[in-house]
Amino acid sequence: MTVIEHINQAKDTIISFEILPPLKGKGITAIYEHLDPLMEFKPSFINVTYHRSETMFKKKPDGTFEKVEVRKRPGTVAICAAIMNHYKVDAVPHLICGGFTKNETEDALIDLNFLGVDNLLIIRGDAPKNEAFFEPEPGGHRYAIDLMKQVASMNNGIYLEEDLKGVVKTKFCIGIAGYPEKHFEAPNMETDLSFLKAKVDSGAEYIITQMFFDNQKYFDFVKRCRDAGITIPIIPGLKPITTKKQLTVIPRTFYVDIPSDLANEIIKCKIDDEVAQVGTEWLTEQSRELKKFGVPVLHYYTLGKPRVIANVVRSI
Ligand code: FAD
Repeated sequence: MTVIEHINQAKDTIISFEILPPLKGKGITAIYEHLDPLMEFKPSFINVTYHRSETMFKKKPDGTFEKVEVRKRPGTVAICAAIMNHYKVDAVPHLICGGFTKNETEDALIDLNFLGVDNLLIIRGDAPKNEAFFEPEPGGHRYAIDLMKQVASMNNGIYLEEDLKGVVKTKFCIGIAGYPEKHFEAPNMETDLSFLKAKVDSGAEYIITQMFFDNQKYFDFVKRCRDAGITIPIIPGLKPITTKKQLTVIPRTFYVDIPSDLANEIIKCKIDDEVAQVGTEWLTEQSRELKKFGVPVLHYYTLGKPRVIANVVRSI
């Protein structure tokens, strides 16, 4: 089933999770060990992130450095197939512009279609860690909307080789990202929303938000989207804070604020177990309020913390 079918058929708020592929070298059991504690909540779908390769400098025996491309978390497509096969739950691979030519994207879409994956979260991806700006591959896509248009074309039976005969129309349901606190590169919220609206007008069926820790940011974002004519479901993306270090890492990495009430409670904690307790309680309250507001889905970024997420979902 597609994500939008899950939403349309649900009578109440549904649950979904996002996981990361394990570090290279780990087996598929790492995924099952991560997901097993979460399966009692019968998630409607599970997203699997995509990680492009990074450029690293490896020291050679003579003391000089060699530039190498390293992909630390490969396996997104295969993990989706494994999840669908093992748990009989729909999987949503993330598909990014970065690092892909249009032909490579088409090949990936053909693989996904053969595997019976009908859902995609389409995002641009960020610049590799040691590069300042995102640059598409030569012959790749600069913005998520351009990648969406390629998928939409395949949904209409138009492949890159336009003269192919008797082609199969894919039926990918397309989700996109939205930013209640603005995308960090956007000059202002209005401009960011106008690009979001363009993605919706090009066929996106739902939005998943960047994490936020203040529900009012989500409520304001939904209102602004509705005022801008964006009517599709807006799924809140939620994450617990579990370590003190995250007080600075999260704002720096994701460009989101941590409200002072939460930050002050975390600062008072002596050990990370106490932080995890505060983070769990905060996320539980956030989830309860969002459910009461009537959100279609509570989407949890599990990021290696399945037991914390399980405690939250169990108590709502
Ligand atoms: P876009 O929609 O392309 O927007 C990027 C920027 O360009 C924005 O500032 C926007 O306002 C602007 N813009 C958009 N269209 C235009 C246009 N036509 N002209 C000029 N400016 C424009 N990253 C990964 O690498 N892997 C993942 O698995 C992953 N999963 C994610 C899941 C979620 C739910 C979220 C919220 C983010 C995820 N990301 C992931 C991060 C994401 O790739 C980055 O946030 C990226 O910087 C932006 O992606 P986007 O799809 O929003 O980009």
